[in-house]
Amino acid sequence: MKTQVKALVVGGGAVGTSIAYHLARAGWQDVMLLERDELTSGSTWHAAGLLPLFNMSFATTHIHKYSVEFYKTLEAETGLNAGFSIVGNLRMAQSKARMDEYMVYATTAETCGVPYEWMSPKDIKDRWPLVNIEGLEGAIYHPTDGYINPADVTMAMAKGARQRGVMIERKWQVDGYHWTGEAWEVTCTKMVEKGGNLVPSEEQIVITAEHVVTATGNHAQRTAKLLGIKTPAIPVEHQFIVTEPDPELVAYRNAGGAEHPVLRDADAKWYVREERGGWILGPYERNAPARFRFGVPDSFRADLFPLDLERIEEEYMSMIHRLPSSETVGLKDDFNGPICYTPDGNPLVGPAPGLRNMWLAEGFSFGITAAGGTGYYLAQMMVEGEAEIDMASLDPKRYGTWQSNDWAVAKNEEAYEHVFILHHPDEEREAARPLRTSPAYDRQKAAGAQFGQAGGWERPNYYAPVGFDDHASRSFRRGGWWQYAVEEAKAVREGVGLIDATAFTKHLLKGPGATAFLDWFTCNKLPKVGRINLTYALTSAGTTRTEYTIVRLAEDTYYLVSAGAWQAYDSDFLMKAIEDKIPEFGWMSCTDVTTQWGVFAIAGPKSRDLLKTLIRDADPETALSNKRFPWLSARQIELGMVPVNAIRVAYTGELGWELHHPIEMQNHLWDALMKAGEPFGLKLVGGRAQNWLRQEKSYRAFGNELGRDATPLEADLPRFVDLSKDFAGKAELEAKGVRSKCVTLLIDGPDDADPWGREALYDGATRVGRLTSGGYSVAFGKSIGMGYVAPETAVVGQKLQVKMFDKLWEAVIVEDSPYDPKNEKIRIDG
Ligand SMILES: Cc1cc2nc3c(=O)[nH]c(=O)nc-3n(C[C@H](O)[C@H](O)[C@H](O)COP(=O)(O)OP(=O)(O)OC[C@H]3O[C@@H](n4cnc5c(N)ncnc54)[C@H](O)[C@@H]3O)c2cc1C
Repeated sequence: MKTQVKALVVGGGAVGTSIAYHLARAGWQDVMLLERDELTSGSTWHAAGLLPLFNMSFATTHIHKYSVEFYKTLEAETGLNAGFSIVGNLRMAQSKARMDEYMVYATTAETCGVPYEWMSPKDIKDRWPLVNIEGLEGAIYHPTDGYINPADVTMAMAKGARQRGVMIERKWQVDGYHWTGEAWEVTCTKMVEKGGNLVPSEEQIVITAEHVVTATGNHAQRTAKLLGIKTPAIPVEHQFIVTEPDPELVAYRNAGGAEHPVLRDADAKWYVREERGGWILGPYERNAPARFRFGVPDSFRADLFPLDLERIEEEYMSMIHRLPSSETVGLKDDFNGPICYTPDGNPLVGPAPGLRNMWLAEGFSFGITAAGGTGYYLAQMMVEGEAEIDMASLDPKRYGTWQSNDWAVAKNEEAYEHVFILHHPDEEREAARPLRTSPAYDRQKAAGAQFGQAGGWERPNYYAPVGFDDHASRSFRRGGWWQYAVEEAKAVREGVGLIDATAFTKHLLKGPGATAFLDWFTCNKLPKVGRINLTYALTSAGTTRTEYTIVRLAEDTYYLVSAGAWQAYDSDFLMKAIEDKIPEFGWMSCTDVTTQWGVFAIAGPKSRDLLKTLIRDADPETALSNKRFPWLSARQIELGMVPVNAIRVAYTGELGWELHHPIEMQNHLWDALMKAGEPFGLKLVGGRAQNWLRQEKSYRAFGNELGRDATPLEADLPRFVDLSKDFAGKAELEAKGVRSKCVTLLIDGPDDADPWGREALYDGATRVGRLTSGGYSVAFGKSIGMGYVAPETAVVGQKLQVKMFDKLWEAVIVEDSPYDPKNEKIRIDG
């Protein structure tokens, strides 16, 4: 057995096998896959094999779409038939709200090129007469969906991998990882059979691998422990049952009836498909427990848990209601197995936190569907440095070191139970909250804050009368909260508002190497001492990795502010780059100070007058004037007793300051601002209003307009890219050119809805792009959005249409920053 390889993949389920295959296909030689037992002996063997193509996540949909296309090609390549049945997928709706949800799905599906059709209850009955259409509003049908045999597709990928030179070794368990500084030394133990159990033998080897990928399924907690990292990937029980042949179904099929598509009655929380004349029912029921939270016991191999029929009784009865012919059919088989989950239901794919050349592919709850695409895109990341799609939403570092086992269990159980709930775009999930709160949380709550969660942080979304029911207010259209956000947005435009931005990611970088490093690391000119700039760190492909507001506190001291919710993601990238570059640029130290500094943004035409009453200065009248405190500068000031690092910027596009303050003084500052704000009508403002306001200024948001699939030039931000200097990713950015361009649109949408930022853009009958943000503009009294179109379409005045609720709505591309394009309001003196 070889002990020196380029890449070692740990885990021989669908996911690991696909990764090994794709690494070889991407040209890497010396790829080895180790499996502690047999291939497919993890969750893969008992999966139902459904391939739900569409998922509301852009990255995940691309991954699923790739898989479906790829699996079709495997037989020609390997001669093995994976039993792929393309029967379609029918998502039925029992309510108008569910149809609304499908219409949001549909426009997003169009942005990914996923086909769909609408069906009325009668269409369903005409095509599949065994389905009881009582209580149905309609359905969305994805014709290219289907199901596959999970073990067969894995074996086909394994054969394809072997044909491409991959070494697959079974009965070898990875028991230790050691990074030498250049490669991983991986300790592996030969596993042997003993009385039906799989036990470690005395035989051990060490394999040296330049890169390691872990795809260890339900063993993710053990893997994390071996690596010294944290991961929220913990399995939850998932069961499905298989019925005896249903005589009516058999008769229908014998008479030439078409196979039923995979049926999903989302309101009843189940999927059903045909299986040898009978039915498979897969429910996503309440109270499915997490399992193996500290690791899989040695005694558990390709085993199952006992069926818990009581837990799925409701779903079982509703299947009988929807398919009455199943009522008298007995049960033939049942499966209750561990299905790995993460708090948001998406897998963890990408570089491991703090480690080099260590890649995670863990936490797959739709691993059969995702395996093909994960292998393809992860191999791109490993071989070329970046994938062609933005993989940030799947990055393992979207969960930071603040996560804990208890938290992951609660969130994973919730994610499982939520698979079929109505996924309102304004949904906020309740489990394990509040957890990360800024000190002012209780004060905000008492003032009526309705919180959202980002990166574990509680952040006010909007403020409503105390007792307002946020849950009941959610909608696919304008929710009950909409009017409050309108009032808040208006208050910022006309008066003054306070926004809690404490969740921002913050780093302090200093030392003799800091200036040269940052100049290389980011693409804009560095600010002078006391000034700030907006800039971007790029990926090795020249696309946007992180957006920074850089405050130059002293010659070699910088305060870096980046998006909230991305603390570990940003920190890991920055720290690794610093470590790499110290030898070249000189010593520097970098500290993640996110939780040391609170941030309040005070914004609106009255913000200066308000702050003047609090600032302690020999001449408070001029302390905040353009002369002493110009736009895009930073000053150390004192507001009452609180020392504040104040930055004159406002993400809302109004006159304003960000007040970065010691977190332990937050409540004191809050009280002082609230008191001082009274005569000015200070309004508490949440994230939803802020999100609308920033679109009126065309401020790009990280994770929406800014990501690893577009360069800052494609985001149309040339003023923040200094092409006269050298910076990381510059050559790649220039080589990319401008493939598509970010634009702002004003939209004449429906009276009761705004876009969410997931909608398809049309020019007549032709799809020309997609929205990445959406909302309502109080300045223009209509819907607003930002998105990407081809450069030739990105022309001010170009009329387009936005697809919302299955109709095309007129929209026009407007100049950047349609509100106050000359920034006169931000720069106003006083
Ligand atoms: C009842 C049920 C129905 C499901 N239905 C579907 C479905 O219809 N569609 C769908 O897409 N998904 C479905 N799933 C989910 C799907 O089974 C999983 O997402 C998928 O199998 C995960 O694949 P994997 O390769 O990540 O993990 P696994 O298949 O669990 O593979 C991980 C492998 O890693 C090995 N391993 C672990 N640690 C080590 C180590 N240290 N050294 C060496 N080897 C190691 C294990 O032995 C195992 O073989 C279902 C799951 C369940 C429970």
